[in-house]
Amino acid sequence: MNSELLDLVVCPLGKKPLRREGEFLVCTNCGLKYSLEPGFPVLLPEEAVLPDGIESFEELPCYTDRGETGST
Ligand SMILES: [Zn+2]
Repeated sequence: MNSELLDLVVCPLGKKPLRREGEFLVCTNCGLKYSLEPGFPVLLPEEAVLPDGIESFEELPCYTDRGETGST
């Protein structure tokens, strides 16, 4: 996987950039780890590995940020 493709893919929940970490693409915002199959990333929250302390992707900042602007 080249860096140009990495620039194109974003976290499907929060539309945030991802960074490469071994066999995973990790969201820089919510920490969700998407598996990186040979040649393509699997950008499905249901298939991704949750970060420590998170039990469902509904707890992730990328998820809770969606459409909830102005609440601060
Ligand atoms: Zn995210």
